[in-house]
Amino acid sequence: MARSTDPKCKKCRREGMKLFLKGERCLTEKCGIERRAYPPGQHGRGRTKQSEYLAQLREKQKTKRYYGVLEKQFRTYYEKASARTGITGENLLRQLECRLDNVVYRLGFSASRAQGRQFVRHGHFWVNGRRVNIPSFQVRPDDIVSMRPGAAAEEAIRDATDLTASVANWLQADHDNLTGKVLRLPDREEIDTPVQEQLIVELYSK
Ligand code: SF4
Repeated sequence: MARSTDPKCKKCRREGMKLFLKGERCLTEKCGIERRAYPPGQHGRGRTKQSEYLAQLREKQKTKRYYGVLEKQFRTYYEKASARTGITGENLLRQLECRLDNVVYRLGFSASRAQGRQFVRHGHFWVNGRRVNIPSFQVRPDDIVSMRPGAAAEEAIRDATDLTASVANWLQADHDNLTGKVLRLPDREEIDTPVQEQLIVELYSK
């Protein structure tokens, strides 16, 4: 299963904001954005010509990086989102939010989405009592996400819950028993991802 292996802090520096890709380190002064708040590369501190296309492209790249999704899969999400009823940008974000790796992160069971993805890939989580090791698995309302009893990553999962300040409103988490429930699909205002999804829709509809 393909995933991006590019340096994470470079991605944040390119987007000019914290994307919280490294878990606990993102909250410390070692954060790449705190230390070098300019884009990576030889011309990182030079001037960039702004354009409508650049704004749309950056918004798309930022969203992909935020959720750890590669171009082909992201495009598939967009196509499914545009085929559904409702607002395409919101449909797109809702699909990304409902990925199992994101839900594990939003429930506070991992310190980052990348760690959530690894936990899922290694089979540390169940959905409705069945092992699911596909990070892109889409959760549905009333699904129960729980740590597999005896999972080797239990200590790391409990450590992650200690870092969690809050759990998304559309989810319910029990950090003692390491279980969570999907209460409903998220509304746009419940998704705190700092993106203007309309720009992505404009880019793909050209
Ligand atoms: Fe981004 Fe985290 Fe690296 Fe900071 S430490 S630049 S938030 S990945």
